[in-house]
Amino acid sequence: MTNTDNLKKELKRIFGFDNFKGDQESIIRNLMGGHDVFVLMPTGGGKSLCYQLPSLLMDGLAIVVSPLIALMKNQVDVINGISEEDGVAHYLNSSLKKSEIDQVKADISSGKTKLLYVAPESLNKQENVDYFKNVKISFYAIDEAHCISEWGHDFRPEYRKIRESVDQIGRAPIIALTATATDKVRTDILRSLGIEDAVQFKSSFNRPNLYYEVRPKTKNIDKDIVKYIKENPGKSGIIYCLSRKKVEELAEILRANDIKAAAYHAGLDAEVRSHTQDDFLQERIDIIVATIAFGMGIDKPDVRFVIHYDIPKSLEGYYQETGRAGRDGQEGDCIAFYSQKDLKKLEKFMENKPVAEQEIGRQLLQETQAYAESSVCRRKMLLHYFGEEYPKDNCGMCDNCRNPKKKIEGKDALVIVLSAVKALKENFHQEYVVNFVKGFATDDIRDHHHDELEEFAEGSDMDVAIWNPVIRQALLAGYLRKDVENYGILKLTAAGKKYLDNPTSFPIVMDTVFKDDYEEEGDGAT
Ligand code: ADP
Ligand code: ZN
Repeated sequence: MTNTDNLKKELKRIFGFDNFKGDQESIIRNLMGGHDVFVLMPTGGGKSLCYQLPSLLMDGLAIVVSPLIALMKNQVDVINGISEEDGVAHYLNSSLKKSEIDQVKADISSGKTKLLYVAPESLNKQENVDYFKNVKISFYAIDEAHCISEWGHDFRPEYRKIRESVDQIGRAPIIALTATATDKVRTDILRSLGIEDAVQFKSSFNRPNLYYEVRPKTKNIDKDIVKYIKENPGKSGIIYCLSRKKVEELAEILRANDIKAAAYHAGLDAEVRSHTQDDFLQERIDIIVATIAFGMGIDKPDVRFVIHYDIPKSLEGYYQETGRAGRDGQEGDCIAFYSQKDLKKLEKFMENKPVAEQEIGRQLLQETQAYAESSVCRRKMLLHYFGEEYPKDNCGMCDNCRNPKKKIEGKDALVIVLSAVKALKENFHQEYVVNFVKGFATDDIRDHHHDELEEFAEGSDMDVAIWNPVIRQALLAGYLRKDVENYGILKLTAAGKKYLDNPTSFPIVMDTVFKDDYEEEGDGAT
């Protein structure tokens, strides 16, 4: 039964919803019409329904690849609670016993199961691939599709082999879904799954009710946090730290200050973690101090603040973690504490990793640094990072918009930067370009003989602090872009080329200067 005319009726009958949310209907129609589909939708946007509903309406079995075993069980329970007569859902992963796997397969073969959640490694297992070859597949849904890319915040190599398994099992439409994807990640997903012609849907990532702020991280950070919590009594909040040790220390400090707080990280017993999670949901505690291990799949609508004790490793992660605030549409404060020392520490940790991974890590970290140090609207920066233009100049809901810095004329600096990018044949990173315009002849620059170019050191008599803000704001204004293939390489856009012919006023704001007086010992492992 692939009749799509009654979609809305089926939505009501099976799920009890009156209307589709956002692009859901169009996504479902495309999938049921046999197209590959790519869905970029923020958390809470309603992605699951985009494959759950069609799986129950279409002939055959829908295979959903998902990385999280814990969430699989949850989703399966939900589906089975509502759709007995339309078919059932199962999951296949390493947690099942042989007899359970046999039962799942029996239900698939009898046609009872319409929706099967599989971990990527289970899908790729030859024994399962061989089994699925004899099953009629309605479509493949790849959830958390950013796991395919090393540029996402959760790379899982097994995701790379999905297309190969699909080809062996038998091609059916593929729908890829994710809540976090830059252009780079999106390109990786489409390419790795071989669905470059997919119909693409993208909803806005703007969360208008969230307030963004970056504060300097000083040696008083613990006091600052206690003070903030005391000023917001009884409100639910999450505080993210990088290391388990810090998580435990801070939770202890908060409790010593009569704040109802608990620690959460992957090193604690499953039982303790589940207990803490319940306490938070039931409001027996107000604050969770956690590593990034906390949060996936947790749906507490009234989290009023998310604090980052340490700077996150990527803006994708940051967006994801702050996204847990204000799900009910009410207030949500997102406060990140920032110090350049933290940044250097993170860079140092990366030194032990393979070179390619280091390079990616460094680029991602530079995006976070730009976010933290820049004085332009934080919302604009975040959305730009996700390929979205925020139309307003002042969002009114970030620290930079509430306390705008005085603008200065950046025209001359912009001309110098754009000319430099051009002279360097649009082939270098921001750092290289900055050194080039400053006239700082690094070994790299000398090797390329770029210190012999006419444009070298064009900006040597200007304030050295102007270059990063000019480049970042030129990116925001669309005069420059970062290359998708070689991420981070600065390219001129058409507007940038035009600007060089006819430069106009370019008001910019200088970066915020962070004093570095934060000291800490110990490690930074999660
Ligand atoms: P995502 O996977 O994008 O984070 P979910 O699929 O978990 O989002 O959906 C978020 C919430 O929205 C869920 O509580 C879900 O039941 C609800 N939802 C999804 N589609 C609809 C709809 N058409 N009408 C009302 N609620 C919906
Ligand atoms: Zn703003």
